[in-house]
Amino acid sequence: MIVLVINSGSSSLKYQVFNMKEEKLLAKGLVERIGIGGSSLTHQPLGQEPIVTKEDIPDHNKAIQMTVAALTDPQSGVVKSMEAIEAIGHRVAHGGEQFADSILINDEVTEGIRKLIELAPLHNSPALMGIEACARMLPKTPQVAVFDTAFHQSIPEKAYYYALPYEISKKYALRRYGFHGTSHKYVAEKAAQLLQKDIVDLKIITCHLGNGASIAAVAQGKSVDTSMGFTPLEGLVMGTRIGDMDPASLLFLMEKEGMNTEEMNQFLNKKCGVLGISGYSSDFRDLETEANNGNHRCQLALDIFAYRVTKYIGAYAAAMNGVDAIVFTAGLGENSPTMRQAVSKNLSYLGAEIEDDKNNQRGQVEISKENSRCKLFVIPTNEELMIGRDTYRIVKSS
Ligand code: AMP
Repeated sequence: MIVLVINSGSSSLKYQVFNMKEEKLLAKGLVERIGIGGSSLTHQPLGQEPIVTKEDIPDHNKAIQMTVAALTDPQSGVVKSMEAIEAIGHRVAHGGEQFADSILINDEVTEGIRKLIELAPLHNSPALMGIEACARMLPKTPQVAVFDTAFHQSIPEKAYYYALPYEISKKYALRRYGFHGTSHKYVAEKAAQLLQKDIVDLKIITCHLGNGASIAAVAQGKSVDTSMGFTPLEGLVMGTRIGDMDPASLLFLMEKEGMNTEEMNQFLNKKCGVLGISGYSSDFRDLETEANNGNHRCQLALDIFAYRVTKYIGAYAAAMNGVDAIVFTAGLGENSPTMRQAVSKNLSYLGAEIEDDKNNQRGQVEISKENSRCKLFVIPTNEELMIGRDTYRIVKSS
């Protein structure tokens, strides 16, 4: 089955095409600057150079139209015709309480995603635009929604309720949802494979450390806690997001700085995190370079980031009463031996000991000492493949 995987942002659209029988990537691409001028499509068939088409792309309809044209192009395309695309999988950020698994899209599902725009305005509305554009362009092709929150729907009440009045939590569905679920699930399953054990016999902590960062406790293959909450702002320190914070301090700041709710929202999402601490960059590569040059605030940002991750690992080991494996993934988790070392140096009480030589390797690799009771892994994430898998599973069984 040929599956087109789509990740729609407000002004961008990323796609990948898989032959799911062999789980083989055929092509990938990116439409940039939708609706804001200077737009382009970059299409890259597997093993070939990217082809860039510059054209006015006013909306997601045009973006999908150009994507299909690129995929079916006689020279650089990877399928003969539109009909050869047998299913489309969409990344949808928020599935709320309604969607605990990926689902075949129909009118009811579309409405459900629309209703959840209130909880994730920046993410769910572009996803919906992508879904509707595909429905117009490829009306006969089944579409599947794969939610970032779905994997975390197994989290128990004690971990997802906040200490708000219960009626308020219920009234607004204000609770922990968690995000990056597709990534946490993918790397947890991969870790079980690498350990050659059934995932139901394992306790795994997955650290998705990128510009957005979250950590999850996965027991018996199910998410039992995660650091992001009602929105992707809670938990770890991130590139520009604040993570955990005393709620009263936000009220204090709003008053002192005269910020309204929208300004505060922007501030917490865009001006804080390692960017705010360092005053230098949200990019961890820049911070590592500058910290090596003796910049105290850059080093402090890295220290605070690593310390928060270590604390969460301790919390989740406690929540699961032990841990068999800890996984690092995403941009920073996959690429920064320094950060992995900083996070892992205080984990020997869990029997997790990092081996420096192994830690300096790249790609999918175990980085713990041979006799380490708890294994440490670096596992590159692959959310698109996971979306492809779910799409294949659901369309095949429908
Ligand atoms: P992601 O959001 O998963 O794409 O991750 C992006 C983050 O990964 C950026 O902040 C990068 O600084 C960080 N990153 C990527 N490569 C490296 C690297 N080699 N060393 C340190 N950080 C990296």
